[in-house]
Amino acid sequence: MTLVAVPIHGDAIAVATQAEAARAAGADLVEVLIDRCVEQGADPDAVVAGIGALALPAIATARSVAEGGAWHGAEARRQALLAEADRRGAAYVDVELAAIAAGGPWTGWTPSRARLVLSHHDHVGMGSDLPGVIARMRAVGASMGGSEIVAKVAVMARDAADLATIRDLYVAGGGPLVAIAMGEHGLPSRLLSGVWGAEFTFARMDSGHAGSAPGQPTVRDLLRLYRLKGQSDTTRVFGVIGSPIAHSLSPLVHNAALGEHGLDAVYVPFRVEDAAAFWRACGGWLEGLSITIPHKQALLAEVDGLEELADSIAAMNTIYRDDADGAVGANTDAGAIVRCLEIALGRIDARRILVLGAGGVARTAAFACRARGAEVVIANRTAARAVELAAEAGCEAIDWRLAEREPYDVLINGTSVGMGKPDESPWPAAAHRSGTVVFDTVYTPLETRLLRDAQAAGASTICGLDMFIGQAVGQFERWTGLPAPEHLMYRLALERLDPAGSSGLTGQWRRRSTSGG
Ligand code: NAP
Repeated sequence: MTLVAVPIHGDAIAVATQAEAARAAGADLVEVLIDRCVEQGADPDAVVAGIGALALPAIATARSVAEGGAWHGAEARRQALLAEADRRGAAYVDVELAAIAAGGPWTGWTPSRARLVLSHHDHVGMGSDLPGVIARMRAVGASMGGSEIVAKVAVMARDAADLATIRDLYVAGGGPLVAIAMGEHGLPSRLLSGVWGAEFTFARMDSGHAGSAPGQPTVRDLLRLYRLKGQSDTTRVFGVIGSPIAHSLSPLVHNAALGEHGLDAVYVPFRVEDAAAFWRACGGWLEGLSITIPHKQALLAEVDGLEELADSIAAMNTIYRDDADGAVGANTDAGAIVRCLEIALGRIDARRILVLGAGGVARTAAFACRARGAEVVIANRTAARAVELAAEAGCEAIDWRLAEREPYDVLINGTSVGMGKPDESPWPAAAHRSGTVVFDTVYTPLETRLLRDAQAAGASTICGLDMFIGQAVGQFERWTGLPAPEHLMYRLALERLDPAGSSGLTGQWRRRSTSGG
C-alpha cells in the first residue's frame, strides 16, 4: 500500500512536533529535510540524533542545490549526516543518483538499517530517458548490496499529457518506485499514486503550508477526498479536464458519489492545456471524463461517437465508455438545463424562453430548449453573435438593448454577468415580471443579484447550482449506470460554496439538498 510522507524541517523540537502532527493527520512517514533545517539555522546533528524517536518513521534527506534542495555544505558532511541518520533509526535515506555516481565520500557506503532511496530531480522539465535513469539506479543499488533500493524520480510536468510518461514508468515495473510529475499539471501523479503502485508519495499538512515541492496535495485531501488507502491497480480512474481547474467542485461531488456507492474508483482534476494531446496520451486508461472550459469543443473529433445533442450543439462536457460505441461524447449541461426547467414548469414546449448571451452556456440552453420544442429568443451584447446562434439553433435574435420589452415565460442568464460580482445583474430590476421563471446559470455567488431582483418581483428562480449538480448527475449515471446520490452531491457543493450558510437564498437550496426536492 502506498505510504503518505509529510516533508518537515526546523530545529529538533519543531521536527518532533511536526512529526506528531503528521501522525495525527493520518500520514505514515515524515521526510526530514536536513538541508532546510540547516538553512533555518537549526543544528543538524540534534535533528539527526532525534530522528529514530519521531512519532513516524522518517525519510532522511539533505538535498543538494543542484537537485532543488538547500544543501550548500561539504559533501563529506552531508554523507556523514545521512550515515548518522541511518544509525539513529531513519526508515529510509534518500541520496541523489548523481551524488552516488560521483563517488567521493559515498564510495563504498551502504546504509546499514535504512532502505536506500536513489533519487533524480528535474525542476524545469520532464528530464530525459527516465527509464534509463531508473535502470541505472537499480544497477547501482544492486552493486551496493543491502535491501532493494527505492527508485525516485521527480520531474516537472509541462502539461497533463506528461502524466503518461510517469504512468509508463510504473507499468514497466522492476522494483519499488516513486515517480512524481511536479506542478499543477502533474498533480494526478500524486493523487493516483495508490492506483499506480508508488512506494510512497508526499503531501503537505494543510493548505496553509507551501509543501516542499510544487503541486503537493494536503494529507486530508489525499486520504479523504481521493481515498488513497483504498486505491489499487483495479481502481477505475475518472477525472475532469480544464484550465484553470483548481477550484472545480467536480472532484468533491464525484468522489463522494463514487464513495457512496462503494465503487472502486477515483476522480481527479487534470489541469490540461492541449486537450487533444492529453486524450491521445492518457485517454486509454480513463474510464470517463468531465470536460470544462476551455475544452468543450476540443475533443469532438477525438471520440468514437457523439450523443445527438452534443453533436448538434458541437460541444461536449462528458466522455463515457460504451461497449458498442467506444468513447462517447455527451453534453449533460443540455440535459441539466432542460431538467431544471421541467422541474419548475412541467413541459416547456409551449413556453417562450429568453436567453441572455450567445457564448457556450447560452448556446447549450438554446439548442436544448429548442430540442424540447420551446420557442427561444436570444439577446446578446454583441448582436452578430446572437444572430449567428439564432440561425444555427433555429430561433430568433433580438436587440440586447430592447430585450426588456420582450414577452417571456422564462429568462435564462447565459452571460457571465454577476459571476463573482454579487451586485451586478444582466437584467434591470424593474424589468422582472411576476409569474415568470428566472434561471441564472451563474452560481458563484449562489445568490446573484439577478435572482434577488427576480424573487423580489414575484418570479420563481432557478439557481446555477441546480444546473451544475444536474450535469454532474448526468455524467455519473452515464459512467456507472447507477443513480447519483444527488442530495449528497448538492449538500457538499453547498457547504463548499456557502460554508456559513449566509446566502439569503441558501435556505431554499439547503432544503433541496436534504429534503429530496
Ligand atoms: P462565454 O462563452 O465566455 O460567454 C460569455 C457570454 O457573456 C457572452 O455572450 C458575452 O457576450 C456575455 N457577456 C460577458 N460580459 C458581459 C457584459 N458585461 N454584459 C453583457 N454580456 C456579457 O461563457 P460561458 O461558457 O457561456 O459561461 C457563461 C457563464 O455561465 C459563466 O460565467 C458561468 O458562471 C456560467 N456557467 C454555469 C455552469 C453551471 O453548471 N451552472 C456551467 C458553465 C458555466 P459577448 O458575446 O458580447 O462577449
